[in-house]
Amino acid sequence: RAKQGGRGRVEVFKPEMHAVLMERLDLEADLRRAIEQDELFLVYQPIVDLATMRPASLEALVRWNHPTRGVLPPSHFIPMAEETGLIASIGRWVVSEAAAAARRWGVSDLGINVNLAVSHLRLPGAADEVAALVREAGVSPERLTVEVTENEIVREHDEALDALFTLRELGMTIAVDDFGTGFSSLRYLRQLPVNAVKVDRSFLADIDLSPEALAFAQSIVGLGTALSLHTVAEGIERPAQLVELQRMGCGYGQGFYLSRPLPEDGVVAWLSSASRAQPGAASLAQPGT
Ligand code: C2E
Ligand code: MG
Ligand code: MG
Ligand code: MG
Repeated sequence: RAKQGGRGRVEVFKPEMHAVLMERLDLEADLRRAIEQDELFLVYQPIVDLATMRPASLEALVRWNHPTRGVLPPSHFIPMAEETGLIASIGRWVVSEAAAAARRWGVSDLGINVNLAVSHLRLPGAADEVAALVREAGVSPERLTVEVTENEIVREHDEALDALFTLRELGMTIAVDDFGTGFSSLRYLRQLPVNAVKVDRSFLADIDLSPEALAFAQSIVGLGTALSLHTVAEGIERPAQLVELQRMGCGYGQGFYLSRPLPEDGVVAWLSSASRAQPGAASLAQPGT
């Protein structure tokens, strides 16, 4: 019999809850195997220089090709990976896989972005390990951007600090992901070795529809610019959003309108069409994958 909740609510352990728990345990065991059995794969979403509309970088985003459940997005397994400590193995795999892909594309001025969890970076030696994996792949550390979410930085900035400084000293770019959602991160921005902010897409969703939303976005981008940080807009879905972001001087952009995340071989084709295209977004738009 479960404990008495507020407002006279009584929680009992229902058979459905047992099913949810068992499913979770299954998935956890599966994830351990997934890493060894090559069930994880990466897709790559372009980041475009908004002044020239040229490709600047590609962000590696992990997927899990589960044998019975099909392709799972990160929201289905990254939180569990963080709780169980599997996140470090995933992070190492992502870094070497993404760096190897960047080398295969062979375009030396094209960046590669990876998302790393603070719970991984705070492990002793994590930064040196990441640097070694990049070196082994034959990629210069200057090409790598490490994205860390603002919420994790706010919660665990002390733990992440050493790792971020090490990676920064090696020449990597450090980007604050989902910028604007952590609210109290402003005071850390100047203490941390951060050189880019990725403005969360929730702040950009309505910029072409509402003057208030536009003013809000302008102030966030302006803050990044005032601190001499690269500014990257997430979640550009419509041409009118792109125009507003270009007008306010946001440096870089990413979103379904510019390109969906692509499989590795789709990147090569996208790069050649993007380099042939005249500046202007329509020619960069890609059908969904
Ligand atoms: P994020 O790093 O902020 O990545 C952006 C997410 O927004 C991606 O979802 C991307 O597919 C999606 N997106 C991009 N453009 C648009 C758009 O125009 N509209 C909309 N509605 N969505 C857009 P995804 O791939 O499902 O990743 C979700 C989150 O999972 C990522 O957010 C990141 O925090 C995390 N993640 C992804 N890959 C990894 C990884 O390899 N390691 C870790 N630790 N986390 C990862
Ligand atoms: Mg990211
Ligand atoms: Mg992001
Ligand atoms: Mg985001």
